[in-house]
Amino acid sequence: DSLGPTICVGEILVEIMATTIGDGFREPIDLIGPFPSGAPAIFISQCARIGGMAAMIGAVGEDDFGRINTERLADDGADISAIAVDLDYPTGSAFVRYRSDGSRDFVYNIATSAAARFGWIGNVEALVSRAGHLHVMGSGLSMQSAVDVIERALPIIRERGGSLSVDPNLRKEITYDADTKKRFRNLIATADLLLPSGEELELAAGIEGEDAAIERLFEMGVKEIALKRGSAGATVFRPGAEPVSAAAFEVEEIDPTGAGDCFGGAYVASRRLGLSVEEALTYANAAGARNVTRRGPMEGAGTREELDRFIAETPRLGG
Ligand code: ATP
Ligand code: MG
Repeated sequence: DSLGPTICVGEILVEIMATTIGDGFREPIDLIGPFPSGAPAIFISQCARIGGMAAMIGAVGEDDFGRINTERLADDGADISAIAVDLDYPTGSAFVRYRSDGSRDFVYNIATSAAARFGWIGNVEALVSRAGHLHVMGSGLSMQSAVDVIERALPIIRERGGSLSVDPNLRKEITYDADTKKRFRNLIATADLLLPSGEELELAAGIEGEDAAIERLFEMGVKEIALKRGSAGATVFRPGAEPVSAAAFEVEEIDPTGAGDCFGGAYVASRRLGLSVEEALTYANAAGARNVTRRGPMEGAGTREELDRFIAETPRLGG
């Protein structure tokens, strides 16, 4: 952590969600929001809240949807100096409604909003040149502005002795072109820490079977893999060491959005603060579980004290 903040690059959004489960938005329905959102922003929020140095690179519009995000991240203790304010485009947004089978309908405004309009400006360069860790969201690799910043930032952070983590969360709703897939493969091969969930592990490794995928990723050079298993908890794999598993916490799931990003923020921050794999995994499981108990993508992100209390008070599933 002393090397400098953990940075994450990508979309900053508000999320506005239906209060009822059902199909889409084709009639007037009750909505709640705006909530600050965007996978990279959720990650940075949790990272900062737990006490890690964290900074966000992205853009918002000059509007209340932007302010709700920048004020929230600043309150969390994150560095927002590299969040640009776009004077011409509004803050990105996502309207979300869950269907009864757990899948989602979206109306996005990301690609044509401020969320996608950032680049290598002075404040970004200044931040990157004092950063110690880069976290990449796979979902951001289809955004050209994110790819540009990531490709410039990574060698600078490496040069400083910094590290890289990758959440290979390619969105199921999107089909990716060959270039994006290649970029994704290259990044995974250079990642120190990988944070896949479910089938993303095999996708990232390009091979089927959990054991084979882990082995392949180690051969590629990955040093640590934190595999998220939803309500079945998570397992951390490292070459030459026994896997470390931890059960999930038993909670009532109100809103599953953001669990993986909070898990990642807590895990990366904890490891960078020098905590053991076991301790980091406990905080990460707690951060993911606590976040699903609140409506809103990052409303349940916890401080170290809040997570300590949550861990003390909450039973483990199947434990
Ligand atoms: P997302 O759904 O946000 O993309 P993900 O698929 O990357 O997340 P998950 O495995 O769903 O990751 O969640 C990350 C972690 O959060 C899990 O490993 C678990 O510790 C915790 N978690 C998620 N959902 C639940 C739940 N319903 N009950 C308890 N813990 C949960
Ligand atoms: Mg999930």
